[in-house]
Amino acid sequence: MTFQPNSPHARDVRYHLHPYTNLKAHEEQGPLIIERGEGVYVFDDSGKRYLEGLAGLWCTGLGFSEERLAKAAYEQMRKLPYAHSFAHRSHPAVIDLAEKLISLAPDSISKVFFTNSGSEANDTQVKIVRYYNNVRGRPEKKKIIARKGSYHGITLASASLTGLAYAHKFFDLPLDGFLHTEAPHPYHGAEPGESEEDYASRLAQMLDDMIVAEGPDTVAAFIAEPVMGAGGVMPPPATYFEKIQAVLKKHDVLFIADEVICGFGRTGNMFACETYGLKPDMLTVAKQLSSGYLPIAGAMVSDEIYQVLKEGSAEAGTFGTGYTYTGHPVSAAVALETLNIYQERDIVGHVRAVMGRFQERLMALGEHPLVGEARGVGLIGAVELVEDKAGKRNFDAARKIGARAAQLCQEEGVLLRPLANDTVAACPPLIIEPAQVEELFDGFTRGLDRLAGELG
Ligand code: PLP
Repeated sequence: MTFQPNSPHARDVRYHLHPYTNLKAHEEQGPLIIERGEGVYVFDDSGKRYLEGLAGLWCTGLGFSEERLAKAAYEQMRKLPYAHSFAHRSHPAVIDLAEKLISLAPDSISKVFFTNSGSEANDTQVKIVRYYNNVRGRPEKKKIIARKGSYHGITLASASLTGLAYAHKFFDLPLDGFLHTEAPHPYHGAEPGESEEDYASRLAQMLDDMIVAEGPDTVAAFIAEPVMGAGGVMPPPATYFEKIQAVLKKHDVLFIADEVICGFGRTGNMFACETYGLKPDMLTVAKQLSSGYLPIAGAMVSDEIYQVLKEGSAEAGTFGTGYTYTGHPVSAAVALETLNIYQERDIVGHVRAVMGRFQERLMALGEHPLVGEARGVGLIGAVELVEDKAGKRNFDAARKIGARAAQLCQEEGVLLRPLANDTVAACPPLIIEPAQVEELFDGFTRGLDRLAGELG
């Protein structure tokens, strides 16, 4: 495509190095430029309106025009635009946010360390795991097991946790000491006739076998998203986390729950830990913590871990980690206001009211000739597109069928996200109204119908 000289498209191609983008293809096709947002909708530079079916990157729970968040940012900027929390300093916004977050978090969690992104939060969790075992005199217990297909971020450590090839290729990752076990994917992974419970037992046994093979004295932690997001939207099979947690307990392995996507109402509870009975030692939050309006995330830990960190920092002289923008006052103020709004408007109640229809429409897409499986929970879901429905055979990845599907849905006015295995995900703002759920799936269906037409 040729762009008008000095048009935003041409300048974007000329100057902007994009994250998670095929850089070569970008020079040809240029960007989709989003200029403004309103409710669950965003508008591109030609004025075309889209229903943001992925809430940006699974983050804008309150949609794109929440005035109270803009006001909270403005007021905090005028009052105290910057403050840090190194060396015993603090400020009201971060204190209020920490208190609120701990009051909402699962009972096992007692303290929060703030970062600017989910990646940094998981990176911090890795550092905390190391610190914890060093202080406890167990320097060998350092390996961390994540799951194939998982997404935990892109710093060197968090990308090492991530179990997706595209986050590793050409980056010399994963680093040593990061392992990946099988994640549940019943559609492809369960044996014919195997029950969900038996499949869950088999996966838990695989984790047990891996820990035993590595040596339990060398395995420090296990990390999982309650519902795997970027890896294809994979809700866990019945009894999976119960069995996984029993294995972790047996081998004294810490459990890190990564609720970066699932947290703050997405699955119909404030945290998916509640939805699936998780009792994590560590919890990672980000994204909907501030409804995506400003960067802020949290690495949260149990009191037992905190007590060990406290001991270590007394010996070391300081807990030697922190960012210039840890607990940034403006981000903290916006996050606090976000949580206040979630509570005042009973966002969990709202999600519960609309998620039934969301899942009904999603499951109906499972009947589409191109859809091998539809899966989801709460207000998150995906369809996996297949060439052969009966044989559960995916398309050749090089044909980029999932990306084409998302493109056609975009033309139909709905923004969705293509993931690995030609899976197309929906994860709209939590504030979505019933009529907009219909609009989302009407556009999704039209996009898939057009794709079916193209494929003949
Ligand atoms: N963890 C999960 C489950 C995620 O989905 C993501 C991002 O999508 C991250 C961590 C990384 O967060 P960030 O992109 O803010 O670094």
